[in-house]
Amino acid sequence: MNIAIVGAGMTGLVAGYRLSQKGHGVTIFEKSNDIGGLMGGFKIGKTSLEKAYHHIFSTDNYIIDLAKELNLFNKISWHEEKTALFYEGVVYPFMGIIDLLKFKPLDFISKVRLGLVKIWLQKDNNWQKYENELAYLWMKKWCGEKAYKVIWEPLLRGKFHEKYKEVSMAWLWARIHTRGNSSKLGYFEGGFRIMADALAKRIKDKRGEIKLNFNVQTSNFKTEEFDKVLYTGASKEIDYLGAICVIFTSKQSLSKFYWHNINDNKSPFLAFIQHTNLIDKKQYGGKHVYYMGTYIPNEGGLMDKSDDQIKKQFFDYLKNIFPKFDEKKIEENWVFKFKNAQHIVTKNYKTPIRQMADKLQKNIYQSNFAQIYPEDRGTNFAVREGNKIAKVILSSHE
Ligand SMILES: Cc1cc2nc3c(=O)[nH]c(=O)nc-3n(C[C@H](O)[C@H](O)[C@H](O)COP(=O)(O)OP(=O)(O)OC[C@H]3O[C@@H](n4cnc5c(N)ncnc54)[C@H](O)[C@@H]3O)c2cc1C
Repeated sequence: MNIAIVGAGMTGLVAGYRLSQKGHGVTIFEKSNDIGGLMGGFKIGKTSLEKAYHHIFSTDNYIIDLAKELNLFNKISWHEEKTALFYEGVVYPFMGIIDLLKFKPLDFISKVRLGLVKIWLQKDNNWQKYENELAYLWMKKWCGEKAYKVIWEPLLRGKFHEKYKEVSMAWLWARIHTRGNSSKLGYFEGGFRIMADALAKRIKDKRGEIKLNFNVQTSNFKTEEFDKVLYTGASKEIDYLGAICVIFTSKQSLSKFYWHNINDNKSPFLAFIQHTNLIDKKQYGGKHVYYMGTYIPNEGGLMDKSDDQIKKQFFDYLKNIFPKFDEKKIEENWVFKFKNAQHIVTKNYKTPIRQMADKLQKNIYQSNFAQIYPEDRGTNFAVREGNKIAKVILSSHE
């Protein structure tokens, strides 16, 4: 078969790799100027860094298996998860039961309820029962009003903006279940780009092609020229949010933690990441690398602000978290905006997924991260979906 794939993100690259392995002709059309999609990176020093913070979990078996297959497993380094939570002017360690017990903003009963709910969700495998529950109401009921306000509301709001009250508990179950059962965080030496590059190389080795700067909606793309077309971009049926990441480098070290949840509704970002507390700063010329990230509507608000306005807002707020943060010590900085970065996983999300069937029309297929459910979308599940849609296309040919 002669197959066109729209999108050179992880889903499109994995599907392209599988189809070309079976001897089919693959052409990938990518509208941006690089491969990788949301996990795409840029050059920094001698390595590559993701435009949006990325790590994998030790439970991410699909991407781990693919890394083994591509001889890249030894490039994954595994690290302890060093997490903190910023609340009312204080950065609290937030990594386990001891930290929870020491966490001052909550009374003892709230902490016990919070701890029990987390343990319960980590152990419970029956996610279907959460499908028709709203995450914010469920958490309020079981953790109590105070723990909900301090912990869960900022997280839901940060991730889903004004849509947070629509989010299904099945999504939150999956997030807590997977992360709670993961023992370490993994990162690729050379960045996630090495996975994208390895897949692209294998596709090209089989005489496949990747056409960059080619938007199939606006360029001269003819479906009839291909036996099958696979679309991996955003789905029309689904509501998405965009995302913004501000990255900067500095010789100044701000924290001993890697991941910081910013539990303050007034913060312009929901997460602050000291990437070099996961990966050695030697990789980045001895400088610390930081991310500040948030999810916001695709249009309007922050998305329409200039990079300078965004940076000002983010850096000003960062001084509340780390009073010693010295903006003058920043060496480089970047602002990245992403459209359609996160889908809204509403109650009974199975219905919209059904409407997004794998097969759109005769010989036209789609696979994208909005079909990932109940798990939180990520590169691991993009690998699973890429494998799956390649099988669907192959079986249609048999
Ligand atoms: C802020 C942020 C943090 C994240 N953190 C993590 C993390 O820590 N770990 C993790 O595993 N995952 C993380 N992810 C998620 C992960 O990056 C994605 O789930 C995954 O990369 C999705 O891959 P995809 O191929 O399905 O979609 P995409 O990466 O969106 O790829 C789709 C591609 O299709 C192209 N395209 C769309 N329309 C057209 C068109 N008309 N013509 C041509 N090309 C088109 C797009 O340009 C894009 O390259 C994060 C994402 C974000 C935004």
